[in-house]
Amino acid sequence: MLTDLSVQLRERENAGLYRRRLLLEGPQTTQVTVAGKHYLAFCSNDYLGLANHPALIEAACQGARRYGVGSGASHLICGHSSAHHTLEEALARFVDLPGALLFSTGYMANQAVVTALAGRADAVFADKLNHASLNDAALLSRATFTRYPHLDLAKLARYLAESQAACKLVVTDAVFSMDGDIAPVAELLTLCEQYNAWLLLDDAHGFGVLGKNGKGVLHAFGGRKLHSPHLIYMATLGKAAGVFGAFVAAQPEVIATLIQFARTYGYTTATPPLLSHTVLASLTLIEQEAWRREKLKALMMQLRTGLELCRWPLLPSITPIQPLMVGGSEDAVRLSEGLRNKGILVPAIRPPTVPQDQARLRISLSAAHSEEDIRRLVEALHDLADIL
Ligand SMILES: *Cc1c(COP(=O)(O)O)cnc(C)c1O
Repeated sequence: MLTDLSVQLRERENAGLYRRRLLLEGPQTTQVTVAGKHYLAFCSNDYLGLANHPALIEAACQGARRYGVGSGASHLICGHSSAHHTLEEALARFVDLPGALLFSTGYMANQAVVTALAGRADAVFADKLNHASLNDAALLSRATFTRYPHLDLAKLARYLAESQAACKLVVTDAVFSMDGDIAPVAELLTLCEQYNAWLLLDDAHGFGVLGKNGKGVLHAFGGRKLHSPHLIYMATLGKAAGVFGAFVAAQPEVIATLIQFARTYGYTTATPPLLSHTVLASLTLIEQEAWRREKLKALMMQLRTGLELCRWPLLPSITPIQPLMVGGSEDAVRLSEGLRNKGILVPAIRPPTVPQDQARLRISLSAAHSEEDIRRLVEALHDLADIL
């Protein structure tokens, strides 16, 4: 049995797909220490630079003193604390939806929604480039699972029209995690209303970053918030919010259904209340410190201008996810290693995370980066383009 595993591991290594973990020795910031060496890092989802913010560290300490460190039980037994509850109310208000429910992770939140709403007689429709957690949730639900080509709403409309399923659920990333592009949410909502389907919108990368005051993708299309009873909104709290966890926001009937039936809600220990206490402080920073989003935009423009003539093209993204398309897995790894030798960390993203021959460097920007940081990255990429 161990030999079988070794063979499989060697195959992955030979294909240039072996994953190795970096060992960070301090906090998650734009300057990280790995094996005693300092690096400029473009690899976290801490888009607003909050993961190591002094006010949040203080809130976490205060939360620990007030609530202890463990929640001790699931929400349905006796683990539901006033810290969780206050945060749920604040999150619902923040994204302007009727109710919100906290989950330990985005992975679990997606699983909860899909498996609570869709079963054997139902159908789930998913964008081809969705996050793995949405795909896993669909498979676990045992619903008929249909994936449509990336952003192909005509195909989706046809699938929805043809489906005889009792309950239909469309699931999509709002900001695609490895491409940085944004789903056409208004059009998706219209389709879902037309075919009486739910829309589960995974805003892991839009919450805190997009829309007025960072309220997320629903608030990112002009002045009016997108709105529909068909809409189920999910966002994570470990990315731009800088802490940990996730939440689902939707109509009260949906929230009540999740509390009653979602297995990743009922059969797991509630997250430490100190985390909710910390996220509450994070929400205030997200809302009040608009300069973080302005800075992100400026850094993004600087990067895109700097790489206009580069050998590798950037995908057309207006989010902090700026993927530099390389193609082959080994080339992507070589480029990532070249940068690393220059003291810069940018991860190579390879299949199966992205499609075959679409390996890339996923440059992710943070409000904690400086103009000088971007200059260094641009210069290093131009240097490597000449020698690799
Ligand atoms: C990160 C991510 C998730 C999972 O969230 P976690 O809280 O990290 O489990 C779900 N969906 C998308 C699109 C993500 O990028």
